[in-house]
Amino acid sequence: MSYHDAFFRDTWVEVDLDRIAENVSNIKQHSGYENLYAVVKANAYGHGDVEVARAALDAGANMLAVAFLDEALNLRREIKDVPVLVMGAIRPQDIAVAAEQNIDITAHDLQWIEAAAGYSGVPANVHLKIDSGMHRIGVTNAESFNKACAMLDAEANLNLIGLFTHFATADGSVEHYQNQLNKVAEITDGTDLTRFKYVHQSNSAALLRHPQQPATNGGRLGISMYGLAPSDEFELPCELKQAFSLHSRITQVKRLYPGDKVGYGATYEVEEEMLVGVMPIGYADGWLRYHQDRPVEINGKQYPIVGRVCMDQTMVRVDESVQVGDQVDLLNDNLTVDAAAQDLNTINYEIVCSISDRVPRVYKRGGEKVSVRNDRFK
Ligand SMILES: *Cc1c(COP(=O)(O)O)cnc(C)c1O
Repeated sequence: MSYHDAFFRDTWVEVDLDRIAENVSNIKQHSGYENLYAVVKANAYGHGDVEVARAALDAGANMLAVAFLDEALNLRREIKDVPVLVMGAIRPQDIAVAAEQNIDITAHDLQWIEAAAGYSGVPANVHLKIDSGMHRIGVTNAESFNKACAMLDAEANLNLIGLFTHFATADGSVEHYQNQLNKVAEITDGTDLTRFKYVHQSNSAALLRHPQQPATNGGRLGISMYGLAPSDEFELPCELKQAFSLHSRITQVKRLYPGDKVGYGATYEVEEEMLVGVMPIGYADGWLRYHQDRPVEINGKQYPIVGRVCMDQTMVRVDESVQVGDQVDLLNDNLTVDAAAQDLNTINYEIVCSISDRVPRVYKRGGEKVSVRNDRFK
């Protein structure tokens, strides 16, 4: 028996697939690119890879991208006919595993290409990565680029079909972006880029902020597909709608008196008679200890978390109106992912990626529940 589409605890994430679809379609229209990768690495930034991939593909994305081969293989079990690119480095000895599942891979430097040379398995599609200034992976100059192209062209079973780079600055520095563009031009000078079927450069920030780059026919859409802005330092050309919300329910309400203390370390001391509500979510769910003192919302009203966040449970200071069974919103349209990120001195990416797979995901369309994913029961 599988419980994969059920759950038995009162804590869950809701993902609004209509909002994801809307974000994809708006950004696709804005950017005007023919090819749009939906970036669904890290379990689609915590939203659920297969579910988000399907919604994004329905809405106008035509390809999928992830960081690691394992992620690509998981997607491929469910989604057959769409290109899937592993943007990160894979081990040369794993090329056959990728190719057998029709997964596109990245050649990121000459040493890797040398190790891959002579590959004789099922033909693999390869995208060459240029490091234009992020200084993560990729070839860094014209000489390496030309050599990489020549070496790959000489391989019968490695098909060089794509070229890409990655931008380091979402915000502030337009100058760094411009420098990266110039670097791409310098590195590829003398090569007709139409030899590549796919040339893709932009992440969310560049898709939203900058016009199409020369000789480029695609982009890679990550954070903004989820309705989260890559930065608050530039004006968005279209509205983004947060698709992710996090919920729990009150399991107990109790009255505490002056001098009582709450939670591990007894760090919260009760000053006047008050009510405390307990909810079944904690840091093992990715609701990190840093969330201590932050607000949650119950029946439209905000209440503070008190005491330390435990591994599985968290206490909230409530009032007489709050009952056992009441829904608690930890992230919603009022308690935004962006606000949580700001409070925790981090970025919205990290908040959603942190919510662990112990929390079931509930998918919604037209405001109605359409499916559930509970990774406790894979
Ligand atoms: C994660 C990633 C993206 C997506 O970036 P967003 O800022 O989330 O849009 C694009 N390209 C590469 C190479 C990435 O690693």
